Amino acid sequence: MLIDFPGKTVLITGGSRGIGKACAQLFASLNANVIITYVNNLTEAEQTLDNLGGKGKHSVFQLDQSKPTHVARFYEKMLLKYSRLDVLINNAGIYLEHKINDVSYETWQHNWEETINTNLNGVANLCYFASRHMGKKGGGKIINISSRGAFRGEPDHPAYAASKAGLNAMSQSLAVSLAPQKVSVHVIAPGFVETDMTSQALKGTKGDAIKKQSPFNRVATTEEVARLAAVYASPGFEFTSSGIIDINGASYLRT
Ligand code: NAP
Repeated sequence: MLIDFPGKTVLITGGSRGIGKACAQLFASLNANVIITYVNNLTEAEQTLDNLGGKGKHSVFQLDQSKPTHVARFYEKMLLKYSRLDVLINNAGIYLEHKINDVSYETWQHNWEETINTNLNGVANLCYFASRHMGKKGGGKIINISSRGAFRGEPDHPAYAASKAGLNAMSQSLAVSLAPQKVSVHVIAPGFVETDMTSQALKGTKGDAIKKQSPFNRVATTEEVARLAAVYASPGFEFTSSGIIDINGASYLRT
């Protein structure tokens, strides 16, 4: 059972499409105020915004989270419009291929830098401002979208795997530091999910093999990930802070 979030404000980075869009749709239908961000694709972000239902006040902001100054400016603007932030879903991320045996040194460096700046440093900076604000308002929740790749490795996308492993470690550290302010920090680690990020791989020759990684013979839907985020965001789940939940259809087992 999912509960309503009336009067609660939920920020979903990269909410314009994919998993973030499904989160935006679900939280909007549960009557939260939903803020989505995008970096380049304004048209898709506006379409997503226009189709959000529920009783909340929804907005879209442009944010390049790989740039620390953008994150600071974004919070200033966002908190002028919304007096409180209750839930931050750090969903935005990139998945750049850079096979160590194939790419030039320039590409290798570029992709490491972009990936770490977006998937790890950007999230750290978003957590910095959110936790300060939430602490002053009596608490809140941070939900970080990680990946199975943090545990299983990503031979063709090594910076991605490292960024998500770093995200897990950071989330657990922050869960300890922020508990006194009643800010809980949760992690969701999906395997393959049907989105733009994976559409090429899923449509390609390896598509069937990817589905077969799970004994359910499919990948996750964006809605399945969104439902887990809504559970974490619900009252009564604060004590799961620091936890990392897999959503990979038993495609990778860890203890
Ligand atoms: P997606 O469809 O590729 O969408 C990515 C979103 O992030 C878009 O809204 C994009 O904005 C935004 N974004 C990209 N770079 C950004 C930046 N520098 N600053 C701010 N926003 C930025 O992604 P997805 O597949 O839904 O994945 C969402 C999250 O789940 C990611 O963290 C990903 O690592 C994780 N995940 C995905 C899968 C999967 O199989 N899809 C599996 C495991 C984990 P624009 O629309 O403007 O480009």
